[in-house]
Parts: sequence; structure tokens; C-alpha cells
Amino acid sequence: TDKQTVSGEKDMLLNQDRAFLWHHMAPHNDHPAIFTESDNVYLTDIDGNSYIDGMAGLWCVNVGHGRTSIAEAAAKQLNTMPFTPMTNSHKPAIQLAAKLNDWLDGHYRIFFSNSGSDANEVAFKIARQYFTQTGKPKKYKFISRYRAYHGNSMGALGATGQADRKASYEPVAEGFRHAAPPYCYRCPFGKEPDSCSLECASSIEQTIVWEGADTVAGVIVEPVITGGGVITPPESYLQKVQEICQKHDVLLIVDEVICGFGRSGEAFGHKNFGVQPDIVTMAKGITSAYAPLSATAVSNDLYESFKSGGPQSHFRHVNTFGGNPMSCAVALENIDILEREDLVAQAKSTGSYLRAQLESFYQFPSVGDIRTFGLMAGIELVTDKTTKEPAPPEFMQQVLGYCKQHGVMIGKNSDTVPEHNNVLTISPPFIISHEQIDTIVETLREAITRASPA
Ligand code: PMP
Repeated sequence: TDKQTVSGEKDMLLNQDRAFLWHHMAPHNDHPAIFTESDNVYLTDIDGNSYIDGMAGLWCVNVGHGRTSIAEAAAKQLNTMPFTPMTNSHKPAIQLAAKLNDWLDGHYRIFFSNSGSDANEVAFKIARQYFTQTGKPKKYKFISRYRAYHGNSMGALGATGQADRKASYEPVAEGFRHAAPPYCYRCPFGKEPDSCSLECASSIEQTIVWEGADTVAGVIVEPVITGGGVITPPESYLQKVQEICQKHDVLLIVDEVICGFGRSGEAFGHKNFGVQPDIVTMAKGITSAYAPLSATAVSNDLYESFKSGGPQSHFRHVNTFGGNPMSCAVALENIDILEREDLVAQAKSTGSYLRAQLESFYQFPSVGDIRTFGLMAGIELVTDKTTKEPAPPEFMQQVLGYCKQHGVMIGKNSDTVPEHNNVLTISPPFIISHEQIDTIVETLREAITRASPA
């Protein structure tokens, strides 16, 4: 019967999964969820169970699943011309570079790569070369914040300020230093909002000065630290960081891999804070993950220094798949959907709705802090609101397990150090309805209610 065929196929897939597949972040999983289909905000597994994709994959399927117009744009490009490298040019890349300039205020040159990590590596190399060819070759260091994630390759991992992600791979690339995060709930400087003078921003300046400003090329920040726990900075923090960068001739690199393309409720996360970065990196939402693509947007001033000095001033960096024509065509249609359906505004208003629904969670003894930014939320779980002792992994697992069992997939921060992995995360597709948000919130409410006291 059909049922036997399906269960036979499932058994075979499970056996092959166990025999051949290396899962990300884990060597194997005895009971991997095998997903077969998706539509709107729903994923269906091989047994036919349906789940709300409350994280939009990995913070990325922003326009939602099942967009046939994107599939058609991809097929059209594949049938027209599957490939020519970015040492040449092609129509989708040209049009996408122009479109990205519409979305960024200012004039940027766009360098295409494949992943968020790639985009950050490109930013670091461009920044170093820029200083080399403008007479400041000693400027090579980058400063990022603890708890930030910037990618998995050796440079991007160097910029990542999460100890557990690096533990088995050091030494990572040389030249990365960290400063304190703008983490108001657990202020590294013991301040409260009314006694705060943005010591977290000052710590970046202190690091620049102690390292020697003539050795520092850039500061890389996300507008809010997303994967590290949805850590939202004080309102004027990013402006102060920009002023510090300008004062010390240090480039401001803003990692918009998650915050970009509407997740923050604005076109880009940094627009919420009124800054103008020197370099902007983006990935995920650029295609809503329908195809791999990333971009490094570089201010025109920087770009000019690469034009004048012959081959030695070329950016000697190429990657085969970067700017792939199909990926660019997918990005163009994805961005067109965001514009046609006014989804950035929708992300903002749905984010406010989500925030309002979560507010009552403060009644739980285990909910220490609720942080939101655009259409994302971080709920920090504790064992005691006064001591703020983080909820242990078993408590997190109970909550996440209950949600998944009841058809709701949300996430958590991870790999800072185990005792800091206590933030639940929600980051759904922008098209999610209020009713679907209610389902997430009510399921989560039940999950936290039932989880045994930490
Ligand atoms: N920067 C940020 C802020 C990210 O969240 C991520 C991915 N989670 C990356 C960079 C790296 O992107 P990728 O996984 O595409 O290399």
C-alpha cells in the first residue's frame, strides 16, 4: 500500500541519513526531522506533520515559503544563461547592484559572494587593502563585540565573540579583538538605563586606543546582536560607535546578514539608528534563502582607492559562485515581492503585535527579559529574576521540545558559553498572520507553564 511505501522510504532515508550525512552543528542526530515540503509559514515533515516555521529557517525565509514567482525567475535565468563569472558582467548582477543602492542610502559598490561568512571576509580584506594602499599599512585589526556571531570561516570566526564556537578551531585568523556588548539586561559595567553613559560604546574606543588606533582597520557590528541572544542596544549606541570610528579613522562595518531586507522593520537595521556605514554586509534575506547569495556593499570613497594604482590596487579576490546569475535573478524577484507587498512595513507592524502579545510573559517567574527588534524576539529565561541566574539547558529543551511537539518551531541562541544559551528566539516569515503569531505565543505560553521549575 501507499502507506507501506512511504514508511519504507522513510526507513531508507533515515538509514542513509545515519550512514552518510553530517549534520550542521552536530555529528548526527538519531531522530532527525526530515522535511519534505513547505508553504506559507508551514513546514511538513516526512510523516505529514505540519509545523509553523517560527524562525523562518535560520532567520532567512523572509517572504515565506511557496513563492512560485521566485521559482519561475530561477528557471527563466537557468534556461537563459546559467553562468558567467563575475570577472565578466551580466544583467541580473547589474540590476541587483543598482537595486541594492536604492535600498541603501548612499553610493555603494556591490561585491557578490555566496554566504554571510564570505561577505564578511570580503569586508575584512577590502578594509585591510584600503589602508595598505592609502599609506596606513599598519591598520589591520578588527574589533567586534563578545556574543556576536559573524560567520564560520577563519576570519569571520575571528570576528565572532562566542567562545564555544571557536573552542576546537583556534587559532583563528590573527587580528581580531573584542569589546563589551551593549547588553542592558546584564550590563557589563553594572549600570542601569538611568545611570548609563554608553560605557559599552566607550569600551570600543578604549580597545581602539589600547590596541593603538594606527593598528585598527575596522569595527564590525550587527545593528542588534541577533543569534547571540537578540541583544538590543540603547538608542544612541550605534551613533556613538560611528563617531568613535570616525575620530580614529576606523571603518564602520555593519553586518546586516540577519537584520537586512526588512527584518528590523526598516530596509536595513542600521537605518533604525541613523548611521551611514562604510561597509554593509548582507546575505540570508537578500534571496529569502531561495538561493545562496551574499553581498558586500562598499562606500564609493573606499572603492575609488582601488581604481587608480594598477594591478597592485585591484581587489585580488574571486569566487566561482559569487554573483551567480540565477541567485541574482532570485534576489531581484525576492526584493520585488518585498516592495510589491509592502512587507517591510508589515514586518514592523507584525513585530509590534508580537511584542504586545509577549508582554504578559513577564508574569512568569522564569522570564527575565523580553527583547524585540522589528520582527524578531528574544526571551531570556532565568531561574530567579533577582539573581538573573540563567535557566539551565534542560529547561530550554523542555520548552523547545513542547513547542515542536505541538507544531511550533522556534529557536534559541547558542554557542556563547553554555550558561548563556538561555534566550528563546522567534523570527518568523514577514507574511505571518496575527492568528499564526497567536498560535506561536499560546503554544509557548503553555510550554513555559509546563516546564518544570528550573
Ligand atoms: N553574520 C550574521 C549576523 C549571521 O547571523 C550569520 C549566519 N547566521 C553570518 C554572518 C554567516 O552567514 P552564513 O551562514 O551565510 O555564512
